[in-house]
Amino acid sequence: MSVENLKYLLVGVLVFGYMLRKTMGYLNVKNPVPAIPDTLSEYLSEAKLQEAKAYQQENFRFRFIAGTFSFLFTFLFITQGWFGVLDAWVADFGFSPLIKSLVFFGIVFVGSDILSLPFDYYSTFVIEEKYGFNKTSIKTFFSDKIKGYVLSILVGGGLLMVFLWLIHRMGQDFWWQFWIVAAVFMVGINLFYTGLILPLFNKLTPLEDGELKQKIVQYAHSVGFPLENILVMDGSKRSAKANAFFSGFGKRKKVVLYDTLLEQHPPDELVAVLAHEVGHYKKKHIVWSMVLSVMQVGVMLYLLGQFIFSENMSLALGGNAWSAELNIIGFTMLFAPLSMVVGIGMNWLSRKNEFEADAFAKETFAGKPLAEALKTLSVKTLSTINPHPWYVFVNYSHPPLLERLEKLEN
Ligand SMILES: [Zn+2]
Repeated sequence: MSVENLKYLLVGVLVFGYMLRKTMGYLNVKNPVPAIPDTLSEYLSEAKLQEAKAYQQENFRFRFIAGTFSFLFTFLFITQGWFGVLDAWVADFGFSPLIKSLVFFGIVFVGSDILSLPFDYYSTFVIEEKYGFNKTSIKTFFSDKIKGYVLSILVGGGLLMVFLWLIHRMGQDFWWQFWIVAAVFMVGINLFYTGLILPLFNKLTPLEDGELKQKIVQYAHSVGFPLENILVMDGSKRSAKANAFFSGFGKRKKVVLYDTLLEQHPPDELVAVLAHEVGHYKKKHIVWSMVLSVMQVGVMLYLLGQFIFSENMSLALGGNAWSAELNIIGFTMLFAPLSMVVGIGMNWLSRKNEFEADAFAKETFAGKPLAEALKTLSVKTLSTINPHPWYVFVNYSHPPLLERLEKLEN
């Protein structure tokens, strides 16, 4: 493809993605709110429903502004050839090709992080604060930023270095070599996330002995689920929103419950939430989603390998010669529509898995407490009860509340 046409294609893909996302968001926020369904009548008041609507609208406006800002910025960078200008500027320092690529990505990373900082700040300290979700102090906010930076440099930078080194040294073969590295990394993160990374940001303490622990252990035993540890995480340090998750494979499985979840739900509901999570394991969802993610990365690397060594993409982005980093940037942008299609497929699968995990919890424990837990969670987080079907199709990894309730309560 000619340089000129590539440039048009990049702009076209960018504009298309932006318009599609904004249209979906608009349809979703404009979807009329129905009367409160019977099943939620004890949980959801008219006032709460209006509050949820206001929260949704405020978030929509915020994402519209943030997304438009980022769109315009990228648009200018492509049409004005600024990526090429930046690359030429870095090249003037006379680094080796590997270091040049690293410095380029370092600048892009820091630059985009600085630009998004005011938006993160506003979202946390203005919107979340207004609706009572924010529990983050300014100090935690910035110390999170710094820790995030250090992790990005050590982990992200290390991976990027291996990736770029393979591209510069191994030529065409880089794609499957890095694929192996990436696969090992992805499995490793899953194994060590709770043990190594999470403690940098949160305090994890073993769940105290008592009724809840007894019930959890009893349930896990009844379905033959080996549980290494039940941990409580101080999620309340940052947000009032609650969550629970598992991590690890094989015999080293840990379950993490947010302290905010423990506060809001009686033991039966908590066991039901756990039963749902156990369902994901028992139905092999975790393993399959890992396999699919690894395959996805493989396909992406293979496609990247098909054109990373051609010069035209670098020229289309304003460079004056072949440049690995410019081609990677260009590829990431061109890959966006395909990645969206893959994302829709993954979300579809994920929604199907959620129903299966719900059914597992209903079968091995009970449906009612899970339904009640979902109602409380949904009402407390001001979630919408009437998302637009197209928005759900594209963006939802979990089925809408009412659909889940229907299956759990019947
Ligand atoms: Zn689930």
